Amino acid sequence: MLSKQQLCDLVLAGLPVALFVVDEDFSIVEFNPAAEKITGKKQSEVLGKRCTDVFSSSLCRNECPLRESDRTGMPCLGREAVIHIDGDQDELPILFSSRALHDDSGKFICGIEVFRDATDVRLLEANKRNLISLFTHDLKAPVAIIGGFVDRLVQGKAGPLNKKQARYLDTIHKEISRLEQYIFSFLDIARIESGQLELQQAECNLAELVREIATGFEVQAAKKHIRLEFDIQQADEPIILDRLQIGRVVSNLLDNAIKYSDPDSTIYILLSQDADQLILEIRDQGPGISVRDQGQIFAHFYRIDDERRAVQGTGLGLAAVKAIVDAHDGRVWIHSTPGTGSSFFVALPIRK
Ligand code: ADP
Repeated sequence: MLSKQQLCDLVLAGLPVALFVVDEDFSIVEFNPAAEKITGKKQSEVLGKRCTDVFSSSLCRNECPLRESDRTGMPCLGREAVIHIDGDQDELPILFSSRALHDDSGKFICGIEVFRDATDVRLLEANKRNLISLFTHDLKAPVAIIGGFVDRLVQGKAGPLNKKQARYLDTIHKEISRLEQYIFSFLDIARIESGQLELQQAECNLAELVREIATGFEVQAAKKHIRLEFDIQQADEPIILDRLQIGRVVSNLLDNAIKYSDPDSTIYILLSQDADQLILEIRDQGPGISVRDQGQIFAHFYRIDDERRAVQGTGLGLAAVKAIVDAHDGRVWIHSTPGTGSSFFVALPIRK
């Protein structure tokens, strides 16, 4: 008969996914053979070391998933990250889930992270994107031609229309415009992601840009009695960025915050400096985003499957945000509690 400890050791050794456990000081106390295989690190090399010293990732500083799980009491599921092992330049894409465990008094006692190599998933996604890009590109010309002829019909250039014909054509016209919008947004994102779109980088005052864009949303917000409140602190340091593209980031996030918030609520626009980066936060009091959806929300065409679908959208706005921020070597992440609201964060490096 196996003891509990023996059974536990057997399970850890045979687990088909990589796993490590950290104690309350974030020092590694467990590291299974699958983790050794993926990272190329032996258990004896990593035990007792802090997890950030062994695997650094862009998440460690502001969005440590274990600290997030500690704060929210919920697991972080199906997240993606790129880790550097021992500060190596080599990058390893991983898919991971984390959970903080607490004692009866609610004190953090340890954190578990399971992960797997996501190289194959990334490759598959890249192939999928290429395929959709090719297909979308080929759709562009016929859709433009159809749109052109529908325009002529609407304008009566092929003869007068009766009321019913005009109504039908009007619907076709609107739907074609929507299809064109999908095609252009998707191709734009694909160009940014593949590095084909050259960023027009120049020195810019982000605080001014954010205020300017938010002003453009005042009417849309007022229609829902939504207040826009600013808290822009010592963020006057000029930074190098593509004004048009970062403008799109701010617009997409504000547009979403207004679209998905209940009337009569407040949206906070916060900008602050943290060492060598500027951090923008758009915080709303909307429906919030579940942990499960947070893992997928930046994927192309992803829309949350609930009453929010009734709001018009393409599911491409946040994919564009991520692509643009990544192209600026920045980061985007979410903190959200369903039923309370969401905060979207964008961190942009200050480069002279
Ligand atoms: P869409 O065009 O559908 O708004 P996005 O990529 O901008 O596409 O957003 C993807 C989905 O994420 C939305 O369809 C919505 O379900 C959800 N979402 C985005 N922003 C928010 C927000 N601030 N609050 C709640 N849900 C949001």
